[in-house]
Amino acid sequence: MGVLKVKVAIAGAGAMGSRFGLMLSQGGVDVTLIDGWKEHINAIRENGLQANYNGKDVTVKLPVMLQAEVDCAEKFDLVIVFTKSMQLAQMLHDIQGVLGEQTKVLCLLNGLGHVETLEKYVQRDNIFLGNTMWTAGLTGPGKVKLFGSGSVELENVGDGKQDDAKQLAEFLSASGLNASYSDNILYSIYRKACVNGTMNCLTTLLDCNMGQFGATSTAHQIVVTIVKEFAAVAKVEKIDLDVDELIAHVESCYDPSISGHYPSMYQDLIQNKRKTEIDYINGAISRKGRKYGVPTPYCDLITEMIHAKEELLGAK
Ligand code: NAD
Repeated sequence: MGVLKVKVAIAGAGAMGSRFGLMLSQGGVDVTLIDGWKEHINAIRENGLQANYNGKDVTVKLPVMLQAEVDCAEKFDLVIVFTKSMQLAQMLHDIQGVLGEQTKVLCLLNGLGHVETLEKYVQRDNIFLGNTMWTAGLTGPGKVKLFGSGSVELENVGDGKQDDAKQLAEFLSASGLNASYSDNILYSIYRKACVNGTMNCLTTLLDCNMGQFGATSTAHQIVVTIVKEFAAVAKVEKIDLDVDELIAHVESCYDPSISGHYPSMYQDLIQNKRKTEIDYINGAISRKGRKYGVPTPYCDLITEMIHAKEELLGAK
């Protein structure tokens, strides 16, 4: 994958899509942003993508397309999907015109169960699944705040496509995205989902930050029970999560350097009245648990309570 020859589309150009779009563009890649939020697309079309990038103001001019108006004539070599989980199917439906037979699709969304959605629109050999530690925040239409460093791990979904996955990682790294090939991406995805499946929903339900939750007398027992539910479900899928390490990993969120943070689900629902990705985190564990005959009472209740909170707050 020579950087200059690859035509990339970012499908879902919110906070994270904008980060990847900006970094790839700065790496010399031909990138187009596709998104469904009209005001955001119009702002980028008029003023460029305006980023506060590690403290510096940067404006990048990028081609943009509204997802409902995707031009079928143009096929991309690589599409990086970066919607919220519940927007993925609609995005894939809307962008079918730009997916050619050779188009690779990389999914870096948080949460579980995205391959099932991707497979409805993309052949398995072209699907790559990943996990990223980069972060990003939208500050308004066309404006993002990008701070700190991160990494990407990714793996092929199609059998025998390891070399393609390794090339894709090299391609992303050429633009500073610090990507590597993983031979067990589902482990990393489950590991991150355990953090989201505890810190995100519990701070949202309890209206507190991570440190405040961690300081309660019941925090440890709640975290242990949820992580064990994730591990029991993962085990049926032959992914052996190290429960003790995961609990320590989740509880590292109480470190004073980050404990004041309100996770993204809190920001989405409590601060911005937006619907959450709960159905792809604890909700995915509930669904899988029912399918596999594994009880997941904490994940079941948390999923229902987050949905109730979405309704109470009129989330959209
Ligand atoms: P985002 O909410 O910034 O963007 C997702 C979509 O929602 C985009 O299409 C965006 O245009 C749209 N959107 C955002 N605000 C809107 C508004 N006010 N009105 C209408 N539409 C709006 O989501 P994100 O943070 O980029 O996350 C994308 C995926 O990456 C998710 O699965 C998330 O969990 C994951 N992720 C996020 C981060 C992060 O730091 N933000 C880090 C790692 C993984």
